[in-house]
Amino acid sequence: MSMALRNTLHQLGRVTRATGQRAARGLDTAWPSDVAVALDASDWRPDEDDDYCPRCGVSAGPGSVTANGCSFCRGKRQPWDRVTRLSAYAEPMDGWVKAMKFGGQWSWSRWMGGQLAARVGEPIDPARVLVTPVPMHWARRWRRGFNQAHLIALSLAKHRGWRCAQLFRRTRHTHPQTAVVHSDRQANVRDSVAAHPVDLDGWQVILVDDVKTTGATAGLCCRLLRTHGARSIQLAVGAVADPLSVKAKTQRAD
Ligand SMILES: [Zn+2]
Repeated sequence: MSMALRNTLHQLGRVTRATGQRAARGLDTAWPSDVAVALDASDWRPDEDDDYCPRCGVSAGPGSVTANGCSFCRGKRQPWDRVTRLSAYAEPMDGWVKAMKFGGQWSWSRWMGGQLAARVGEPIDPARVLVTPVPMHWARRWRRGFNQAHLIALSLAKHRGWRCAQLFRRTRHTHPQTAVVHSDRQANVRDSVAAHPVDLDGWQVILVDDVKTTGATAGLCCRLLRTHGARSIQLAVGAVADPLSVKAKTQRAD
């Protein structure tokens, strides 16, 4: 094992201990006791790669995505290298996400992590893959009792035998991006995320969230990952909200 890899593993171990995270191998004992909740997804199948744009994650029709992306993202730089999603944020996925976040049915996050594990592809170097969740502010986590992105990330990592660490923390509370007008979104999230000091030179990072809406916070995480040397970044999400519905929701909130 190289010295650089050994140093990064040591740093990730410190991050894991500092954030109080249980290792993925302890997931079964750490998991909440709601595993008896019936998951009614037996007839459901996740999207195939050509069902959506790999640059921004938006649903795509046949032939609508080129090497430069789709009509929503063409000409716009994306902070990640690609997006992997399970579905659009629509029925039935939206109901499952709400059951997970607001109904306390945490086992949906384990299911979602398993589904994503089968979709994220093969890494160049399995020894240098890090799965990390988009962070949640401690106050929101305290109210909800968990960060669903962290649970999904733990499940994904466990299914593939990869490392998972909470690399980020929220430095301040932010309003949901869907409640903020477009012109204020950058200011709403600016400097709201910090990263633990870890050398990720040569590492492939899988950044996990339950739903991508505007992608602004995930974008902040990606910029921090780049400054820490990440080789590539894949954003893995359960669902991607239609940008037109996000815009409409913002206008209603306005
Ligand atoms: Zn696109």
